[in-house]
Amino acid sequence: MTRSHPPAEALKYVDDASDADASVYPADTAQNCANCRHYQGGDAPEGGCALYQGFSVQASGWCTGWVAR
Ligand code: SF4
Repeated sequence: MTRSHPPAEALKYVDDASDADASVYPADTAQNCANCRHYQGGDAPEGGCALYQGFSVQASGWCTGWVAR
């Protein structure tokens, strides 16, 4: 992550799910922001996240707050 947002960093957010910390990312899944219930970007490549006020996330991103849409 190139942008600083402490709440997102606390939940291990990365712009690309493939860069996620292997110790916390469930490798047998295909989780990313685009298929997370908290993603507010619709079909856009970038958008808001319900967990992070004032911080846009990438559709390709991921954090430990992921919940199935
Ligand atoms: S909660 Fe969901 S939409 Fe928000 S950053 Fe984490 S994975 Fe992406």
